Amino acid sequence: RSRTLLEKQREIDSSAVAYPNDIPLAFEAGKGATIRDVDGNTFIDMFAGIGVLNVGHANPYVVEAIHEQMDKLVHTVDFPTDARLELIEKLDEIAPGSLAGDNRVVFGGPTGSDAIEASIKLAKFNTGGDGLIAFRGGYHGPTSGAMSLSSNRKFKGHYTPLLPDVVHAPYPYAFAQGKTPDEATKDALEEVRAIVEDPYSGLANPAGIFVEPIQGEGGVVVPQKGFLEGLRDIADDNGLPLIFDEIQSGIGRTGEWFAADHYDVTPDVMTMAKALGGNGLPLSATMYREELDTWGPGDHAGTYRGHVTAMVGGIRAIEYIQAHDLLAHARELGEHIRGRLEAVADTNPMLGEVRGKGLFIGAEFVTEDGTPAGETVEAIQQYCYEHGVLVWTAGRYGSIVRLLPPLVLTRELADIALDVLVDAIEAATD
Ligand code: PMP
Repeated sequence: RSRTLLEKQREIDSSAVAYPNDIPLAFEAGKGATIRDVDGNTFIDMFAGIGVLNVGHANPYVVEAIHEQMDKLVHTVDFPTDARLELIEKLDEIAPGSLAGDNRVVFGGPTGSDAIEASIKLAKFNTGGDGLIAFRGGYHGPTSGAMSLSSNRKFKGHYTPLLPDVVHAPYPYAFAQGKTPDEATKDALEEVRAIVEDPYSGLANPAGIFVEPIQGEGGVVVPQKGFLEGLRDIADDNGLPLIFDEIQSGIGRTGEWFAADHYDVTPDVMTMAKALGGNGLPLSATMYREELDTWGPGDHAGTYRGHVTAMVGGIRAIEYIQAHDLLAHARELGEHIRGRLEAVADTNPMLGEVRGKGLFIGAEFVTEDGTPAGETVEAIQQYCYEHGVLVWTAGRYGSIVRLLPPLVLTRELADIALDVLVDAIEAATD
């Protein structure tokens, strides 16, 4: 049946569908960290709808509340509801650093890109500027503003002109740059400062610095301490908002509520989506400092702003993560997974680097001469599919195996998935 469905999809669906590899995969049900295909095969899901299902598939605590809400009222735009106010309060409770108690939240459309567009508008509105600083390897979504901030030409090459004044500074990616983390950090910060301050290389009228505190699509690139803090200083020195895109890294993914919590820095603006809706319902939000709340009614909108059913899912998901201490679990399990992969890296030179925080994990593969080994990673992904484990890829030339499992993944299941992944690595790098 999977094969039949895939054939039909190829016949009638858009060519824009990005179907990975050659294995026919058509799913019909998920439970926790597993997902079942239409032929009855069960897979361990190590990618969770690209980091969406942090509380697992069909989490009963979340789903029950969603069902109840759907029976009552699915959607109201932005009239007050208990769910809306409760979610705003919950987000304040988990907000990073000094954003807690000093923020407003705007809901726009339901996707991450909508939150990015809101943050671009907010930065422009508050500064009067139009220049945006973003980073190489960054990914922020498929809408025009978000594409402008993204650096990968593959996603945006055909759609220019996009936003005119965007400059992509280097992200500190020590492994790929052949630098020490200290050098990569210092060089990246010097470049950003020049873009903002140097009259010979700067943006005419900067409006804000947009950064993923950990790059996701770029290859799970984790900056060392000092980089985000340095951006904070540059932003402060120049009166610019610092905007963190926490769409992939937020809501517990890294073993803290937000990636920002791992660093000594608080952004002025923070985007959330993906896992925010709880159990996969689409919802996005942009949190920002209260002093930036200068715009007026209608300055940011969208039919699905504040989808009450997704909000109920989001509240329940946050409660579930709190009640089961899934942040600590994600930290511990993430360390265990990275430890097992690092043991492989110790003896296998093609596994160049293992990175990550919590259950946001990347394993980068390189050929003998150090170039990105995208084909190897494709073979690893294929082997994993054939042996019942879903993994995703990322990064330059697809050379990173990316793991984004539900935070409810047990150690037992993680070890089974890792047994398969380790075999896959051996088979693909033989
Ligand atoms: N920002 C980041 C960091 C992302 O990872 C993504 C999606 N992968 C987006 C923005 C865009 O989100 P969406 O696809 O929901 O528009």
